[in-house]
Amino acid sequence: MTKKFRVGILGATGVVGQRFIQLLQGHPQFEIAALAASDRSQGKTYAEACKWRLPGDMPEAMKQIVVEPPAPPLDCDFVFSSLPTGIATDAEIRFARAGYPVISNSSSHRMGPDIPLLIPEVNPDHIALIDAQQKNREYDRGYIVTNPNCSAIAVVLALAPLHARFGVSSCVITTMQALSGAGYPGVASLDATDNVIPFIGGEEEKIEAETLKLLGTVGDGFIYDAAMAVSAQCNRVNVTDGHLASIRVKLSQPASLDQVKETLASFKAVPQELKLHSAPARPVIVRDEIDRPQPRLDRDAENGMSVTVGRIMPDNVLDFRFVALGHNTIRGAAGAAILNAELLVAKNRLF
Ligand code: NAP
Repeated sequence: MTKKFRVGILGATGVVGQRFIQLLQGHPQFEIAALAASDRSQGKTYAEACKWRLPGDMPEAMKQIVVEPPAPPLDCDFVFSSLPTGIATDAEIRFARAGYPVISNSSSHRMGPDIPLLIPEVNPDHIALIDAQQKNREYDRGYIVTNPNCSAIAVVLALAPLHARFGVSSCVITTMQALSGAGYPGVASLDATDNVIPFIGGEEEKIEAETLKLLGTVGDGFIYDAAMAVSAQCNRVNVTDGHLASIRVKLSQPASLDQVKETLASFKAVPQELKLHSAPARPVIVRDEIDRPQPRLDRDAENGMSVTVGRIMPDNVLDFRFVALGHNTIRGAAGAAILNAELLVAKNRLF
């Protein structure tokens, strides 16, 4: 029988924490052993501390688990972290120092030169940074691995196949991001209703910097950024889940429209070859309908783990334009971290 890893979830009561719990139900490799959140929740049972906001009921087995502080020791083999950035910075280091692998979804450590920022379909070789990290920081068994910003994941899953085949030299991105991306309660209803907010703190910088690191190449204990110009503008829109991005690209080599569509539609990578449990069969789904993707119709494609791309066409300013959509709390957060952990198991980095 395969070993089941006992996992802890930091930030277990939040929007992303609840997704972790939902997605880990019945997982063949991971079982939830510990839950942690703020002092508002600590000492209470999960049922007392958490107002379950996903469809369906809170899983029965979680209800009586007592919520703990997000600090070591926790009785588990490794932790998933969905703590707010300010709290994650120290908490994740404390866990890594104490010997726990930390599979994080927070932004605190993503841009650390020796921290893998991972999308298993895009840059699985970046896990090599774990060795440099453990050496630099004198960690023994512990380390930190991160997944990207919820919009950057959708953008980069769509860019990666094009970059690998033709090279992407410039990219202009405009996002329309769901309310759940701001956590709970997030944006006040009176601000969100009948409105679009053209500002999400730190988001444009994250998308621009993370895209270059994700598409970069491994150096000696660090990543060489991809040589690409990236410009991002972000908007908060009145949608519950699903971040949409309008993307324009300039390619380094000529490509036909059919080649661009075929390159995206046929994209498969390491998670599909390894048949990782959470890997979608098609990481990028290409739709030909004139009005897709749409958040409500497409965010749950392949259990929320696929990015849907549509409206692919030549562009009068750059070379091509298209629209990409990803589920922000699944492919953009909890699902991404779980897929990272599955890759780490397959590569003998979790044992
Ligand atoms: P959230 O709904 O506000 O949940 C925050 C969680 O952190 C809750 O469990 C909360 O516990 C806990 N927490 C808050 N303050 C704390 C403190 N001082 N000490 C310990 N725990 C504390 O936020 P979220 O949307 O789940 O986001 C969590 C992280 O994931 C953030 O770093 C965010 O940037 C990142 N992220 C979010 C998304 C998304 O789509 N929402 C996508 C990608 C990444 P209590 O319930 O006890 O307060």
